[in-house]
Amino acid sequence: MISSLGKICPYCKERVKKHAFVCRYCGRELEPNNEREHNFYPNWIFAGFAGLAAGAALALVFGYWKERRRWQEEITDYSVSEEFAHE
Ligand SMILES: [Zn+2]
Repeated sequence: MISSLGKICPYCKERVKKHAFVCRYCGRELEPNNEREHNFYPNWIFAGFAGLAAGAALALVFGYWKERRRWQEEITDYSVSEEFAHE
């Protein structure tokens, strides 16, 4: 887990500054993708919520559409049975 205070050096496990490129304890280069990883999680959470909202909206629209379709089908069934009755 990356805290706001800094990150842990993967080589010597010492806490170094978040934006550090080189560990001040062992002098090794640190992976610069920690910053991207930090933004990666909120994006995932946002995407999850967006997906959830989209799913809920879709379910609502589908429910309405289904109800509407059923209502239309009742009329269609009626007219179809009328046509068959005439044949
Ligand atoms: Zn280090």
